[in-house]
Amino acid sequence: MLYDFAIIGAGVTGAAISRELSKYKVNVVVIEKLSDIATETTKANSGIVHAGYDAPAGSWKAKMNVKSNPLFDQVCNDLYIPFKRIGSFVVALAGQGTGYIEELYQNGVERGIPVEIIKDLAAIKKLEPNISNETEAVLHAPTAGVISPFLLAIAMAESANINGVEFHFNSPVQNIENMGKFFIVDTPSRSFQAKAIVNAAGLYADEVSKMAGDETFKITPRKGEYLLLDKMGDFVRKVLFPVPTKKSKGILVSPTIDGNIFLGPNARDQDSKLDTSTTLSGLDEVIEGGRKLIPNVPLGDSITNFAGLRAVSDTNDFIIGESTKVPRLFQAAGIQSPGLSSCLGIADELVDIIKASPNLSGTEIKLKENFHASREKPVIFHDLSWSERDALIKQDKTFGHIICRCETVTEGEIVQAIKRPIGARTVDGVKFRTRVGMGRCQGGFCTPRVIKLLARELNVDEEEIVKREPSTRYFFGETKDFRKENAPIMNGRPIQQ
Ligand SMILES: Cc1cc2nc3c(=O)[nH]c(=O)nc-3n(C[C@H](O)[C@H](O)[C@H](O)COP(=O)(O)OP(=O)(O)OC[C@H]3O[C@@H](n4cnc5c(N)ncnc54)[C@H](O)[C@@H]3O)c2cc1C
Repeated sequence: MLYDFAIIGAGVTGAAISRELSKYKVNVVVIEKLSDIATETTKANSGIVHAGYDAPAGSWKAKMNVKSNPLFDQVCNDLYIPFKRIGSFVVALAGQGTGYIEELYQNGVERGIPVEIIKDLAAIKKLEPNISNETEAVLHAPTAGVISPFLLAIAMAESANINGVEFHFNSPVQNIENMGKFFIVDTPSRSFQAKAIVNAAGLYADEVSKMAGDETFKITPRKGEYLLLDKMGDFVRKVLFPVPTKKSKGILVSPTIDGNIFLGPNARDQDSKLDTSTTLSGLDEVIEGGRKLIPNVPLGDSITNFAGLRAVSDTNDFIIGESTKVPRLFQAAGIQSPGLSSCLGIADELVDIIKASPNLSGTEIKLKENFHASREKPVIFHDLSWSERDALIKQDKTFGHIICRCETVTEGEIVQAIKRPIGARTVDGVKFRTRVGMGRCQGGFCTPRVIKLLARELNVDEEEIVKREPSTRYFFGETKDFRKENAPIMNGRPIQQ
């Protein structure tokens, strides 16, 4: 089969582009190295839809953020993705001066973004009661919002799939051959032929581009570490940014879409594209930064910590458009922050570039008459009223069986997550779709139950169920085998009792 487009990478960028292309009468395949949607940078970030005032004027980052922000309401409405425009503050503390927030204010005005500067501490405290008493002024941007980055990416991919896009997982692209009129894209299990390639490979976009013949940019990873606290009502109400550093927006304190609070991220350049470990010094830096904004932040309510890697290009901007070296190679690369906020704008922009490309004149790119903008509404038991819960359980008893006590996730929701288009196949796949295991006990209670349900629904042995990738196994053998000389091997060493 000759596809019109092969999209490499199923993070939020690839997912958004796949949905945008699925509006047209073209054949699209998404090729993803890992086992699910949103398994790399998209799964570990701040989850903020930025208002769009801070990237340098004229940059792709600024243009795409401004274009994208207003598009979120419609997409989230169509796809049943929780999204709240809670607004953001950039907080100038005593001694920092207000010059920086005044600059941002000007950017906001010039870009048509609603912004205001508030200097009265009482008025600021009314909106954010626990903010530091050292606050001198804030830049308030009411259109900033919070979202679940993985639910967004999963929902857009599901929508693309309903509209005919194929997804292939566990398929790392290892080689690309340019045959003139089409490309051959090789993965270990099969090869794909496509007239055009969309490179949305995140941290590896430079390597994918090189495989296709374009070596014009380099991506380096920049780590950001986080501390995640339990849910605590409206203790923090808005996204709180400090006056930023040269490398990043600085360490924020913000609620998540689910009502947890996070502190972070810091920004540390590193060589490894794989190292997402957290460090003591990094978390100390995050705590110190967070306390400047919310001095009484209850660190005792911390439930986990994690890190994500920004894909920083050597142009320090997004790289969007058709390659100047390789016709029909379309780049969506260097998508560091605000990439989540910009994904809808990037998809729209790139598809316009594709439609206008003279190198694709043989491919008709016409809108479908029957594009389905919506999808089946997922049940979120936790959000239902008592009477709605009652009615649901009467229809289907599995919604009366709580699997995750911390987040009130039911068996019915887990089965639903497995059976939907591009359904969950791993424990993390269930977690990202339902919030199972994301609460205070971090999966201590529910993980074995989720494994059982996955095995039952997929009709495989429990031993075959993995956390994420095929190498992340839970089971290595029978307990009694651990005493034997031929004990199962893990990390090159026998596991012994
Ligand atoms: C700490 C941190 C905080 C952030 N906070 C925000 C925020 O609050 N708001 C915001 O707007 N943005 C934020 N961002 C940026 C945002 O997370 C990213 O811009 C966005 O997730 C990038 O998505 P992506 O799809 O381009 O990349 P990814 O999510 O990394 O997806 C790329 C995909 O390509 C796949 N891939 C790679 N190589 C291959 C290959 N050879 N073959 C097949 N598949 C391949 C990968 O497996 C991956 O799934 C933050 C980023 C970080 C790290």
